Amino acid sequence: MKLREEALQRLESLDLGGYAQRRSYLDGNVTHLSAYLRFGILSLAEARDRAWSADCDLASREKFLSELAWHDYYRRVLALLGEGIRSAIEPAKSGWGVDTYERTLPDDIVAGESGLACIDAFTKELRETGYLHNHARLWFAAYLVHWRKIAWESGARFFLDYLIDGDPASNDLSWQWVASTFSDAPYIFNRANLERYSAGRFCSSCPKRSAGCPFEGEYEAISQALFPHKKDENVPQPELRAPADRMVMPGKRPERAIVLHHFDTMRPTHPAARFAPDAPALFVNDAPLYDEASVNQVGRTIVYAALGSMQSEYRVGDFVEESLRFAREFGAEAAIVTESSDPALRRRFRMLGEHIEVLLVPDDPFVTLDEEVDLRRFSRYWSLARRSLRTAASAANIVPLFSN
Ligand SMILES: Cc1cc2nc3c(=O)[nH]c(=O)nc-3n(C[C@H](O)[C@H](O)[C@H](O)COP(=O)(O)OP(=O)(O)OC[C@H]3O[C@@H](n4cnc5c(N)ncnc54)[C@H](O)[C@@H]3O)c2cc1C
Repeated sequence: MKLREEALQRLESLDLGGYAQRRSYLDGNVTHLSAYLRFGILSLAEARDRAWSADCDLASREKFLSELAWHDYYRRVLALLGEGIRSAIEPAKSGWGVDTYERTLPDDIVAGESGLACIDAFTKELRETGYLHNHARLWFAAYLVHWRKIAWESGARFFLDYLIDGDPASNDLSWQWVASTFSDAPYIFNRANLERYSAGRFCSSCPKRSAGCPFEGEYEAISQALFPHKKDENVPQPELRAPADRMVMPGKRPERAIVLHHFDTMRPTHPAARFAPDAPALFVNDAPLYDEASVNQVGRTIVYAALGSMQSEYRVGDFVEESLRFAREFGAEAAIVTESSDPALRRRFRMLGEHIEVLLVPDDPFVTLDEEVDLRRFSRYWSLARRSLRTAASAANIVPLFSN
């Protein structure tokens, strides 16, 4: 089955019943939609619409929508900061200076031989399947940054090399959230929390189960041991103001134009393709572009497989050069692309724009924020996003959308 069809089928059969209650458990009913969403095989808007029609409790619907919102939020931060997300956005609140953190991953972590059953199982699962449950990602990241004092950037890189949904926005910003360079406090956990949400599956076979488990203890004591210099003071946060959303569609479609597909929107119905359905379309497999955007080998395979559902010419080479060559072959005066928050793609669009008109079509919005938003914290974004969701749902007669 083609990837887009597979994704639509998964969306159709989504069971959100009990999602709010069970999502944090490793055996909970998470959706496994992340790789489809990361490469735009499904849009966030399609997943949102599916949630509207889901037969489930209101709490589960809201929880699912708020998870999709995290994805949207992180993409917005990426659009604002570009490659800036790859360095600390704020000082860490751990009380440790930047120099405390090692920049090389320890061999035992890479080999999955830390001696901790949970951490080693996560490494193995990541390497073998490319997928980790959100809670496992959190535990792993916290262990690496706070217990082992490894720079979050090194852990983020490790994840991006293997994740099937590897996405610099969600990944790097989640690592920063754990590390407290994009949150108010370091994220930590204890053994009771891990045992509860993993149904004890690791602790029972762990060599450190009766002595030496670093996660044993109450939160207060663990925090004091990990962060003896931590001060509870307000660290100033830089402003991250983003303007209200403006969906500016290109005006008239040029007579002769080409459509360019790219790895952020790998569905046949992405907005640029809808804008010019009969225009010749191209996908360029550009290895340096993939490297710049941290699309790993699995991601490249997924993107290639997704092309099977799309009308497209396929070429290997430099994105800009091949696009120009393709445009010349068709006597095209413009290239139509769906917008992306990825800085490497945006750079390519600008470079292309030096030679040919580039028409950017906004991606299908998950929410439309009607006022300026401060992206420093998810909560500020979420209060506006929630309002937008409620308005859109009510226009579609989905009432109530949320319980309050
Ligand atoms: C350290 C760390 C690294 C991460 N790296 C990535 C990454 O590279 N790519 C990625 O897509 N997600 C990443 N996440 C977020 C999250 O873990 C995954 O999106 C989720 O586990 C994917 O599984 P699912 O589709 O079954 O999720 P579900 O729980 O079913 O959620 C549905 C969808 O909501 C979105 N979502 C859920 N949680 C988050 C979140 N915390 N942040 C952003 N979006 C979210 C995803 O698109 C997901 O597919 C990371 C989280 C952490 C803590």
